[in-house]
Amino acid sequence: MVNTVITPTGIAPLSILTSTDHPTSQQYFQYAQLSHFLKGEPHLLRGTRAHTKYETYCTTHSLQIKHLSIFYRLLNTINLTPPPPFTAAWETELGITIPVGTWHKIFIYAHTTSISTAVRESTYKRISRWHYSPAKVHAIFPTAPDTCWRCGQPKGTTAHIWWLCPAIQTYWRGLGGLIKAITGHQLPQSPETFLFLVHTTHIPNLQRKLVNHLLTAANMLIPLKWKSTRAPSVREWIQKVEFIRTMEELDASYSNKYTTYTLTWQPWLTYLGNRAT
Ligand SMILES: [Zn+2]
Repeated sequence: MVNTVITPTGIAPLSILTSTDHPTSQQYFQYAQLSHFLKGEPHLLRGTRAHTKYETYCTTHSLQIKHLSIFYRLLNTINLTPPPPFTAAWETELGITIPVGTWHKIFIYAHTTSISTAVRESTYKRISRWHYSPAKVHAIFPTAPDTCWRCGQPKGTTAHIWWLCPAIQTYWRGLGGLIKAITGHQLPQSPETFLFLVHTTHIPNLQRKLVNHLLTAANMLIPLKWKSTRAPSVREWIQKVEFIRTMEELDASYSNKYTTYTLTWQPWLTYLGNRAT
């Protein structure tokens, strides 16, 4: 079909495509739509360009059966654009490897995690290493120490401040215990899970949403304690989770998603109720 529509001289005439000298008004309309689309995408008219996987499939296979499954598989195997350089910096400092496809999922999560712009902004800044670590400041101003302000160890890289520092490891272990008590899920003690919300174990959808809100709140507190020797407290974490929950509740009440909201946040509300008694 692609070869039929696009000829070396441009779009094939309508009479050729329809095999008739008297096309219907619907065929005229569809031809006009196609012409308009191709005029906006001139690279598609170049006869020498390589076919996409989709075009190759269309020109070499019969589309009689299972084409939806086939196209879905094709979409999942398309070459993803390389992730930005800051992703490699995270991997080097943490000593881990995160596949390109997983980074793209992390980016999608960053702008779908919450209705709150403040939450999204915090996530963007964390992932893109926006905050200046002691090591980064030292590289710019050599007289500034590169040591961690919590533990005093050199060198205070971004990964050290967010994950590797012994003081922040205690914080994350405590968070992991609280999340297990609230949701029943023991998260693997890994930066992929705690910093980037990548889950390697099965967690049902609504529970995963709650776990991600709890982790996001924990991550939002770290920049608030930038240059402080003290890790965030449980009380501060509860306040931040409540901020996120309030925003989610507002959104749910406006968009008729209150049932989902209630099911998602019930374990958290139970936890708060137990603390109050
Ligand atoms: Zn440290």
